[in-house]
Amino acid sequence: MLDSLYRELILDHYRRPRGSEPIPSPDRRADGQNPLCGDECSVEVRLDGDRIGRISVRARGCSISVASASMLAQEAEGRTRAEAERLEAAVRDLLQGRGRAPGVDLGDLEALEGVAQFPVRVKCALLPWATLREAFEAPAGARRGAAATTEEPAKGGGVR
Ligand code: ZN
Repeated sequence: MLDSLYRELILDHYRRPRGSEPIPSPDRRADGQNPLCGDECSVEVRLDGDRIGRISVRARGCSISVASASMLAQEAEGRTRAEAERLEAAVRDLLQGRGRAPGVDLGDLEALEGVAQFPVRVKCALLPWATLREAFEAPAGARRGAAATTEEPAKGGGVR
């Protein structure tokens, strides 16, 4: 019962992504990709003091990546960077099967809980979050923005 409710919520975000309007001259931006599935994601942030005043998240790819991007846009707006990072940690817990973090209101993101059963899809759901993190970690004013990837770094290091 709960499962089908969550599935509906994911499909609703997929069909009508929230917060996907581009932001003119954003303070932060990054692009990300999940090579495993072919998902792509762009994040733009307009800061309001230390808060995310406006956020735009545009994703192309599977339903899980697009829905997660839409939920991120919906739930992260108005939060400080620290709050957004707490939310990201809670989403990772959920997706990696560690359950719900106490004291964090996940909102619609709760619907992603079932994704934990599909390890291949976990990276799809995490892509928008990795991209947001990259946007914050990139030097401010970086012209082309930063690039995030869900691909694991090659073992043994080395420059690719
Ligand atoms: Zn995907």
